[in-house]
Amino acid sequence: MASHPVAVADPDRSKVLLQALSSVSSRVAAASAAVVALDDQSKSNPRPPRLVAVSKVKPASDIQILYEHAGHRHFGENYVQELVDKAGQLPQDIQWHFIGSLQSNKCATLAAIPNLFAVETVDAVKKARKLNDARNEDWQKLNVFIQVNTSGEHSKSGLAPGQDTVDVARYIVNECGRLNLLGLMTIGSIARSNAAADGEQNEDFTTLVKTKYLVESELGMNGLELSMGMSQDFEDAIKQGSTNVRVGSEIFGARPPRKTAD
Ligand SMILES: *Cc1c(COP(=O)(O)O)cnc(C)c1O
Repeated sequence: MASHPVAVADPDRSKVLLQALSSVSSRVAAASAAVVALDDQSKSNPRPPRLVAVSKVKPASDIQILYEHAGHRHFGENYVQELVDKAGQLPQDIQWHFIGSLQSNKCATLAAIPNLFAVETVDAVKKARKLNDARNEDWQKLNVFIQVNTSGEHSKSGLAPGQDTVDVARYIVNECGRLNLLGLMTIGSIARSNAAADGEQNEDFTTLVKTKYLVESELGMNGLELSMGMSQDFEDAIKQGSTNVRVGSEIFGARPPRKTAD
């Protein structure tokens, strides 16, 4: 492994980050235990769910701390160049998730990252094809999630929950030998999570669950995963069957406002 030009961790920062990760991990485990107690149907899902630490705009030294001192391996990034830079600097056994908006002209760059674990935002046949074409056949298959626009908001990317999602899933399974269809992903609407506060279900998550069953029955498969839940709603998402939560600010602290260029 190459030596990493990652800045030495500040001990105060280490303490804060390790504490935050440990607290989120306990909450994930508790929510997951509650589901196992309640719901037979979810027993086939990975338990506890995978916790993806969303490190976008945070320094590589933050990731290094959680890698080294907490043994954490799954990290999520939104911007291709930032992911390429961090993947080059940080240990090769980190399992990266790309969770940002996916552009066709960036697919080959992403697929060339050997330790990219999953692209969570595939929303078109063309992008699946480009990822597949660019993936080295000697490497392990690249996991993909299909992003579904469960809220129907025009501002959100992702495919419509019905036939469009089935069609892209079928293409990946039948035509993309270097990709593995791991599951479906939604960003969902925080407003709906808030509205669903009192024991009600978040409709976005319900829609993703239904779409998973639709895809599984249409394709004659099962065991697809669900990537849903972020800092504000990961416990609810787990209770509704999430197997992969993407948590940023609850671990790394608030992010600066997004640059308009993104
Ligand atoms: C930024 C981001 C997250 C993490 O958001 P937090 O609210 O900070 O947990 C999760 N998923 C996606 C797709 C994101 O862009």
